[in-house]
Parts: sequence; structure tokens; C-alpha cells
Amino acid sequence: MKISIPKGTKDILPGEIEKYKYIQKVYANLLENFGFKQIRFPVFEHTELFQRGVGDTTDIVQKEMYTFKDKAGRSITLRPEGTASVVRSYIENGMSSYPQPIKLYYDITAYRYENVQKGRYREFNQLGAEVLGSDSPNADVEILNMLNYFFSKLGVQGLKLHVNSIGCKVCRTKYNEMLKEFFADKLDNMCEDCKQRYIKNPMRLIDCKQEKCSVISKDAPMLIDNLCDSCKEHFENVIRGLDEMNTPYIINKRIVRGLDYYVRTVFEFIAEGIGAQDTVCAGGRYDGLVEELGGTDTPGIGFAMGLERLISTLEKSGFVLPYEKNPVIFIAYIGEKAYKVARKIANELRINGIYCEIDINDRSLKAQLKFADKKNALYNVVLGENEIDTNKAIIKNMSTQEIKEVSIDSITKRIIENKI
Ligand code: ATP
Ligand code: MG
Repeated sequence: MKISIPKGTKDILPGEIEKYKYIQKVYANLLENFGFKQIRFPVFEHTELFQRGVGDTTDIVQKEMYTFKDKAGRSITLRPEGTASVVRSYIENGMSSYPQPIKLYYDITAYRYENVQKGRYREFNQLGAEVLGSDSPNADVEILNMLNYFFSKLGVQGLKLHVNSIGCKVCRTKYNEMLKEFFADKLDNMCEDCKQRYIKNPMRLIDCKQEKCSVISKDAPMLIDNLCDSCKEHFENVIRGLDEMNTPYIINKRIVRGLDYYVRTVFEFIAEGIGAQDTVCAGGRYDGLVEELGGTDTPGIGFAMGLERLISTLEKSGFVLPYEKNPVIFIAYIGEKAYKVARKIANELRINGIYCEIDINDRSLKAQLKFADKKNALYNVVLGENEIDTNKAIIKNMSTQEIKEVSIDSITKRIIENKI
């Protein structure tokens, strides 16, 4: 019976995986220059971590988690994101006693039971980072500046930083009252989700993507116009820092991250024209999260970006990402005696860092050459009994069709030293 892949997942095959590896490498190098260290954490955690760490009122917790009981009856959830796990680890490993701030980055798969569509999968890849232990606007600026540099280094075009402030508990309590008053007589014309948001988390009424709701919320009071003095100062400092670092941004009053412990700076990098799933990277400050998860009061800020969305944005920018590497040389052979010599040369090249192909399926010369053609090697050489006996072989440059006679025992050295 044929077994197919689960909906919303994919195999990342050679040809595609190189793009992931390239981006992951650029990301890791850059983040390390900014003082971040990598962290790995489990694919699954206790369900409660996400209920508290992502928040009960979010779409993720309400609709999207892969939750199951393990054999001992514990409720386990596949990670839908990384922040909650990083914060759990910070607390569990006593990182608050290390010099602050702690800067960590991660490179993970994440799992959400989603309505599958372009840019929205059930297993996807995320690159993210967190800074724990700094409430300074300098942390916000450093992260945004780093992300801006990362995207331009990759060559992404049409990706814009949208930034906003959603204030703190003090400004938000007052603001939620204003929102309730504004929406009270308009709810009948809004979607079911918004009716729930009105009760549980009014701020999220602002970022509903449904047309009929966004038309209504257009005239709603915006939090950024109602910040308390210290949140206002924080935001002004962030904006000043972005200006000073020449990091372009748009202040977008509609960007909200609707969790209780998200405060102040929130942001998204939004791609123009990649369709509905246009948020490539999202993040914000979460000064209440460490405490919420049982640690001491510690400020934090972080972000995550979807690799699949980043790759499609890059490809839309016309960027050619690295693809499969071609072999430097294909060594074909005729007969057992020549095979043994060919195998030695291949082995030596490979252990000296050269990608070399050789047939191991005992194929005819014709079949080997056909295979070689598909592999697109830069050079080709054929070893037969005659070549072995005379210690002479012909190396062919497959792109220029140039040929050259060389001694067999010089092939390894020539290829390694790039002197054909
Ligand atoms: P969206 O509004 O698109 O549902 P989100 O707010 O759920 O996004 P976050 O939790 O902020 O997304 O995740 C950060 C990033 O991870 C997103 O900006 C996106 O690039 C990526 N991402 C989120 N969910 C998915 C998914 N199901 N498939 C692919 N990428 C995703
Ligand atoms: Mg989502």
C-alpha cells in the first residue's frame, strides 16, 4: 500500500534544501556577530507551557496545537513556536544568574494544525531569537537593525518593517475600555472571532483581517495615540534609534500582538505581493512572560520568521538561491582493474575536500557516461585497461570540451591544485 505524506507537511529535497542551508548559515553567522548563541530545545513540551506562554486566547492555543496524551497520560504538545520554550529554558537553567542580557537564537521546525494554503503549513521552519534581561529601547533597535541587515544581505526586496507600540498594562487597561465603548454598537456587523475578541481581548479587534471588520475598526482609537508617559518615551527612543541607524520603517498602528504580557514594541516585516500570507517575520517585547512562566520579573524581546515565506519572497525578488553542487570530476572506468584505480583516486579527492562522482553499480561505460551527464561534472575522465597500463588518461573539461592528456598518478594532485 502506498503511504503518502501528511497534509501540510513536505519533504525538502536536494535542490531545495540548499536554499534552507544557505539562509540558515547566513542567519547563524550574522546572529553570532551580534552576540547571540544558539539554543536547541525539544520538539515537544508540556501543553501547559504553551497555554500559559503563548496564551489561552490566541488562535495558536485555541485552534492550532498538536496536543496528545503520552503513554503515561501526560498532555504533550508539539511546539507551535519557540519563545515559550526559550523562556522555560532560561528559567529552568538559572540563566538569570549569568551576565545579562542573554541573547539566544534558534533554528527549528514548528507545528500548527492550520488550514493549509500557500505560506501556511502544518510543519514549517522558523528562525528566531530572544533577548532576555534588557528593557532598554537599545535592545529593540539592535534587533530591528540586525533583521534589516539580514534581509538586505540576503537580497530580499519589497520587505518592509512595520513597527508599533501596544503600551503596557497601565495604558492597555484604559485603552481596552475605550475600545469596548467604540465597538459596543458595531459588533453585530463583525465576524464571530471578533465577537469573542471583544470579550476576551479587545485589542485584537484591531488586527482582524476580514474586510467587514477592518472597515469598522479603521476609525477605532489606536493605542499608540494613548500611551502612558514611559511607554511613549520608550517608543520615541526606538524610533530615534532606527533613524540614527538608518533602518527604514513604517509606523503601523494596526500591528498588535494580543497577549497580556506583550508590551511596548511590536513589529512585522511584511512582503509586498506574496499573497495573503505576507508576514515573513514577526516579533515584539514581552516583559511579563518570564514571570508568567514562573521566573523572576525579567524583560524580553524576540522575533520569529518563517523560512518558507522568506524563500518565496526571495524568489519573487528574482534572487537565485544556491542549488545542488555539481561534482568537480566524474571518473568513469572500464573493467575491474580500472575500477580499483578509479576508486583510489576518487577516495583521495573526496578526503581532500573535492566532490567527486564514480559509479558503484557496475554499469557499462555508456551508462556511466549518461549518468555523468546528469551529474554535470566539470571534468570527466575515462580509465580503461590501456590507460592503466600506459599511465595516461584524457581529462575533458565538460564546459569548454577541451581535452588534455595527463598521467593517471597526477590526476589527484592536479584536481586538488586546480591545475588541469
Ligand atoms: P499569521 O498571521 O500568518 O498566521 P502568526 O502571527 O501566526 O502568522 P507567528 O506566530 O508570529 O505567526 O510566527 C512567526 C512567523 O512564522 C510568521 O510571520 C510566518 O512567517 C511564520 N509562520 C507562522 N505560521 C506559519 C505556518 N503555518 N506556515 C508557515 N509559516 C508560518
Ligand atoms: Mg497564525
